[in-house]
Amino acid sequence: MGSEAKAGHVLVLPFPSQGHINPLLQFSKRLVSKGVRVTLASATSHLNSMQWQVSYTNFDVEPVFDGVDNGGSETIDEYIERFNANIPRSLAELIDKFSRTADPIKCVVYDSALAWVLDVARSSGVAGCPFFTQPFAVNALYYHYLQGVLKFPLEETAVSLPAMPALEFKDLPSLIYERTSHPAICNLILSQFSNIQDVFYIFCNTFSELEHELEVWMASKWPIKPVGPAIPSMFLDKRLDGDRNYGVSFFKPSTDTCLKWLDSKDPKSVVYISFGSMAALGEDQMAEMAWGVKASNFNFIWVVRESELKKLPTNFSEQTSDKGLVVTWSPQLEVLAHDSVGCFITHCGWNSTLEALSLGVPMVAMPVWTDQPTNAKYVTDVWQVGVRVKANEKGTVTKEEIERCIREVMEGDRSSEIRKSSDKWKKLAIEAADEGGSSDKNVEEFVAKLKAFPS
Ligand code: UDP
Repeated sequence: MGSEAKAGHVLVLPFPSQGHINPLLQFSKRLVSKGVRVTLASATSHLNSMQWQVSYTNFDVEPVFDGVDNGGSETIDEYIERFNANIPRSLAELIDKFSRTADPIKCVVYDSALAWVLDVARSSGVAGCPFFTQPFAVNALYYHYLQGVLKFPLEETAVSLPAMPALEFKDLPSLIYERTSHPAICNLILSQFSNIQDVFYIFCNTFSELEHELEVWMASKWPIKPVGPAIPSMFLDKRLDGDRNYGVSFFKPSTDTCLKWLDSKDPKSVVYISFGSMAALGEDQMAEMAWGVKASNFNFIWVVRESELKKLPTNFSEQTSDKGLVVTWSPQLEVLAHDSVGCFITHCGWNSTLEALSLGVPMVAMPVWTDQPTNAKYVTDVWQVGVRVKANEKGTVTKEEIERCIREVMEGDRSSEIRKSSDKWKKLAIEAADEGGSSDKNVEEFVAKLKAFPS
């Protein structure tokens, strides 16, 4: 990138996990398309994959040291602590380095869970904008939790909050009642409210039409700006720009295998199954899933990450080779955009949820933890684009239940109603991101303000 940028220079700092990088990467691409210069700050231990991911884009990647020298086998909680201890200094040095160039950083856009970035930005004399990678609903819930509004024990009464449907215990983000199991993740996420009253804007990967009442409620408190769905524009408006290599994965997708296989199937005949980059099912649950999908007799693509493959029942792939394909990572957006796909069994990670919604694919919601239960509530009860599995008294979702849910979405009485809602939301998502749409206007507004920032 040249040093002359019309609108200004923005430094983007994602948290390096798949579900957190993807939306910030897509948002960065949008900023670039509107004349902003973007530099992506990548944690050193993820630098190689990050450089590979952005090799096709118009922005630069600069390393920030996360303290991991040898890629050791730490837990996510341990990594978070190391990341937070090391990145601030390295980030300040990076901003300082650019301040001595013709094109200094004007603003840092950062994952909202990294609240301390605002202090670094301010002490370096630049503005800061957090980016919520989860929907308004989940952020509002965390905020209410911090305010002590949620009454414990949460199991006993439905939670009723401003601008939200009544939520039962099963609909709440699990971190609210799992604080002790994941202290670093919880602290990271809850810390985002410590200074958001002082920020310039808060971006969110959602769109106005999707969470309108919550947007109004949140806007009465903070300068929030929905800018989603943060997925590549080629999937939203079908103006294929030749940028098929949008590669946004830390894992290697089986792109050709999946697409060739899908090409050979009838329209809306395939069930796509994925639990994202982190959620893991127990071995028994994997077996129930496997036999439930087999019993449905629909075609399927199932993403089983390398680390989970050993949990598949013996001979499952052989027994289902005429109907199914198991891959360790898929080109998810291309799969969801394919005509052959009729439904998505998903853990309801926010990116997966928004991707399926934006591409009009009905869902079977099978949330595992964090924000996923709340996202599932929206899928089934608010947007009405899918059904949710029910676990039995032992907490297992049986093969019969999985088969029932697949049938309900693919061919049951409610199937056409669900498809109608899915088509409606797809249209609204495209409109929001398209030129002049609600999210596009918010991005434009930011770019116009950025031009006026002092350098
Ligand atoms: N994804 C993918 N291929 C897969 C599974 C997931 O490209 O086989 C992408 C998916 O499109 C999404 C991200 O990985 O953008 C997962 O994010 P999400 O928030 O859904 O779940 P998380 O991994 O954070 O639990």
